[in-house]
Parts: sequence; C-alpha cells; structure tokens
Amino acid sequence: MTAKKLLILPGDGIGQEVMVQVRRIIDWMAKKRNIHFEVSEGLIGGSAYDVHGTPLADETLADAMAADAVLLGAVGGPKWDDLPFEVKPERGLLKIRKEMGLFANLRPAVVFDALADASTLKTEVVSGLDIMIVRELTGGLYFGQPRGIETLPNGERKGVNTLTYTTSEIVRIGRAAFDLARKRNKRLCSVDKANVLECTVLWREEMIKLQQTEYPDIELSHMYVDNAAMQLVRNPKQFDVMVTENMFGDILSDCAAMLTGSLGMLPSASLGAADANGNRKALYEPVHGSAPDIQGKDIANPLATILSFAMCLKYSFNMDHEAEMIETAVKNVLKGGLRTADIMAPGKAKVSTSVMGESIVRELDKLN
Ligand code: ATP
Ligand code: MG
Repeated sequence: MTAKKLLILPGDGIGQEVMVQVRRIIDWMAKKRNIHFEVSEGLIGGSAYDVHGTPLADETLADAMAADAVLLGAVGGPKWDDLPFEVKPERGLLKIRKEMGLFANLRPAVVFDALADASTLKTEVVSGLDIMIVRELTGGLYFGQPRGIETLPNGERKGVNTLTYTTSEIVRIGRAAFDLARKRNKRLCSVDKANVLECTVLWREEMIKLQQTEYPDIELSHMYVDNAAMQLVRNPKQFDVMVTENMFGDILSDCAAMLTGSLGMLPSASLGAADANGNRKALYEPVHGSAPDIQGKDIANPLATILSFAMCLKYSFNMDHEAEMIETAVKNVLKGGLRTADIMAPGKAKVSTSVMGESIVRELDKLN
C-alpha cells in the first residue's frame, strides 16, 4: 500500500501548538504500528500572508488538491485584523473549502463521560451523547441566487436571499449522510421545513427516494428544523446522524456543540465528492478558532485537533482501528483526571498542551 498523503496546515495562533501534538501521534504510529504517511506542511491564513502576501498561495492549494487529506489548525488573529477583505486570513480558509468542493460538513457532538458535568444541561440529558450533524456547506440559503439589497421604485429598500437546491446537490449530501449512518448506528434524521419551504419539500422527496433505492438498511426519519432545535436541547440522545441544509446546519451544529460544553474538544470534517476510485477530497479541523488570547502559553487544549486527526483516519484513510485507539486514549486520559485549563474542574490535575499530547501518546502505548 502506498503511503497516504497528508497535508498539514497549522495556520495561526494556537493552531501551531496543537498541531505539534498531532505530530507526536503521527510519529508514534510510524514507530509503534509501522503506519507511515507522506506528510508535508504548508502555510495558511495570516502566517501565509506574512510570507506570500496572500492567505492561500497557489502552490499550497495545489498541494491540498493533490493530498489524500488536509489537516488544518486555525487561522486569524489581531495582527491581521486591519488587512483588506480579500487577503484576510479567513479568506484563505473559505477559498480552500470552495476550491476543494467540500460540500459536506461533519460535526460530531460527543460528551465524554468524564466531562458530562461540563455541559450547561443536566448530566443525565447529555451523558453518553454521541451524535453527528451533517451540514450541507456549498449551497442552500447562503449561496442561492438572486441575493443582495435593492432599492424599490418607491424608495424602500429590499433585502433578498434565496434558498435553492438542485436534486443532484441534495442527493450528494444525502449519500454522504447515509454512508455515515451505515458506519454508525444505521439511523438518519433529515431536517427540513417542508411544511413551509418548497425547496425543502424537494429535499425530503429526494431523501426518501435515496433511502428506498440505495439505503434500505438505514432507518430514515424527518423533522422540521424548529422542532429539531427544541429536541436537541430537550432530549439530544434521540438522534444519531442528522442531515440538513446549510443555514439550518450552521445553527443546529452550534447548538449541539454547546451540549458538550467545551469548544476545545470538538473536531470536524469537510468532505468533497468521491472520485472514480471512491476517494474524496477532505479537510479536517477543530471547531475552535486561533484563540489569540492564549497563544504561545502552552495551555490550549489539543484534543479537538487530535480528534480531527482521528476522523481523518476513519473517513479518509480507512483506519478505523487506529481512529478508535485515539478516541479511547482521549477518553482514558480524561478519566484519569488530566485537564487543560478550558475543561478544568475541581480536584483534577491541570496540564499544559504538551503534557496533554504526551499523555495521549503514553495512553496509546498502553492500548497498543
Ligand atoms: P474564530 O473567529 O476563528 O472562530 P473566535 O474568536 O470566535 O475565533 P476561538 O478562537 O475559538 O473563537 O476562541 C474563543 C474562546 O475560546 C477564546 O477565549 C479561547 O481562549 C477559547 N478557546 C478556543 N479554543 C480553545 C482551545 N483549544 N483550548 C482552550 N481554549 C480555547
Ligand atoms: Mg468564532
């Protein structure tokens, strides 16, 4: 088997520090499990602007297109706040997502047993929570035409955004979600607003067709988005995989993230279309940003990025076993009482970014 190509883009702020901890795991996999990646590293965001005058150089984009997967830290920071819009660090991230055609955004919300008391909800509502929200990322209300603000003949102004989906756009996000459901617990909830919005009537029809023709083994249910928001807060454990429109997913995934109570723990994946060999473009990154306020202090939580790497192993490299080892290592280290500052609780041992990374590797050694 040829080595998988992994492009690492640490980016700015704590992105650099947390990525060092993933490097430890990559080294460990080479030494202890004889799994080798072809790893290259590049610049994105403000650190790319400082060198190339652009937040995403063409060569870096070409490397991303040629890689089997991209692992990204975070972009942005006060140093680049006053740059013109086109070269802001965040533009680099938007550009790479768009150029790679990453239409499926996967956001797991997992509550680790040891952290169940970190949520703002009652422990029994969230303990054991493990759901996956699949958000359509390149269509829907955020991209539909016509859009803009116009002035009417009577002088009034009118703002317009349009919710559009073609059947092919619905089917490809549907397949991504059904495939995931198949890898998990074979249940998928499609979230729409089919009682009001025609576009989502089409969405629902296509999801039903897909289930009947390609995924008869998956249990498909439907929910209106307003109810889904309520149910996520009332009884989130009823869900397994959810699939939904761009803006609905934006809102629901932030809501689900808060159920877990800790930004520093949340990974994500963004997937593109599969090629003839079934390989898809993919980018993995923590949900949190560059956190300039804690940059360089060795206190950032590296677990969101480490868990993003585990998602990469699972969804891009077919290394489910190693992915689960990493997830178990994270669980065990938390159970053992180690905490970075952001998830600190009374009676636990506060550790630095690097000690957390080392502890994960030590735990992997035990599990190996
Ligand atoms: P962005 O616009 O890139 O999303 P943001 O400012 O909205 O950035 P973050 O950079 O994620 O959000 O930071 C929000 C807060 O959470 C900050 O105070 C930061 O210190 C904290 N934070 C974010 N990520 C981590 C982490 N991995 N470990 C510890 N604290 C974190
Ligand atoms: Mg933010």
